[in-house]
Parts: sequence; structure tokens; C-alpha cells
Amino acid sequence: MLTQNTAWTNVERALGALHKAGLMTQAGIAACPLPRLERAIRSSGYYKQKARRLREFCRRALAEHPEGLKAWFAASPAGELRKELLSYKGVGPETADCLVLYAAGKPSFVIDAYTRRLGERAALARGLSYEGWRALFEGGVPSDVKVYNEYHALLVRLGKDFCRKSKPLCGPCPLGGVCAKRTLYGKNRKTFR
Ligand code: SF4
Repeated sequence: MLTQNTAWTNVERALGALHKAGLMTQAGIAACPLPRLERAIRSSGYYKQKARRLREFCRRALAEHPEGLKAWFAASPAGELRKELLSYKGVGPETADCLVLYAAGKPSFVIDAYTRRLGERAALARGLSYEGWRALFEGGVPSDVKVYNEYHALLVRLGKDFCRKSKPLCGPCPLGGVCAKRTLYGKNRKTFR
């Protein structure tokens, strides 16, 4: 939730502040007065909304899963866990998939802005919904936690280092040999998407 619409460095600062304030547990966040929680996560942006949602998530999860997040995530199959997480306010598909993959350690392919941009540029598909992109990748990548984990990390790295929003570095890009957009870039730099 903290990583939504912000850079990771801001999240790190928020995590540091939460740690310092003794708010690194579900029960601690659930019982925390909003102004205190807002102060702690201020650096993550949209902090008022995020504080409300984070506290609401912890309160509901505690009420419905008193066994704790770890036991809940371990006992629930990936598909069911994803569906349940999506019913929580503030948990969209990307957040749910991150939780299933990274917190529960179960296969659920994460689609983020880097993946969509690269997929569109490389002409894997066009105009797909989140679920469409997810189905495309899950259909083509072996359903394995380590593979999904590494694949997502590599796509993020590629998006940051080469397939940038503007002025992508197609020349040295490792996908240059297979990417549909690479040849267009030189001819039509200004309209590159
Ligand atoms: S070749 Fe260019 S457009 Fe294609 S993935 Fe690499 S950086 Fe992105």
C-alpha cells in the first residue's frame, strides 16, 4: 500500500519512521490513532488516505483472521487469497498480486507500469486490461514463485535502465533484437510510446 504511486526511497523513509514509532505490527497499526500513523507514513505520499486504508486493512484482517497474516497467507490457496485481498479497500490487482507473490510466496504474476509499457512497445499486445496482461504473462511463463519473482524484478530493471518512459535506450537494450518498437524509434522519436 505504501508503494502505491510513489518512489521506493519514499517508502523506505516511511518504513523507517514506522519502525521508530513501534508500528511494525498489525496490532500496532490497527490500534494507532490516525494522526500518529499519518505522521509516520507521511513521506510515502497520499498519507492521509494510505493511513486510513492501512489501518482499515489491519483491523479487518485481525477481525477476520485472528490467526495472523502469516498463518492466513500460508493456509489460503493463491487464487482464493488474491480474491479475498481484492475485497479489501485500497488493495487493487497489483497490490494483491504483490502480496500473494512476495508476502505469501505463491505464484501470481505482478503487472506494473514497466511491464505494460514494455509489453506495448515490444508489441506483445495492445490495450489490454490488467487482467489481460496478467493472463498473457501467466500463460507464457512457468507458474513458479522464483520465476515470477525474478521475471518481475528483471522487467522493473529493464524499464528503469532501458525502456524508460521518454527517451528509451533501444540501442543497448537487451530486447533490441526482438522488440517491435526499436526500429521505429530512430524514425519517429517524438511520437515514441
Ligand atoms: S528496444 Fe527500446 S522499446 Fe524495445 S524494450 Fe528495449 S528500450 Fe524498450
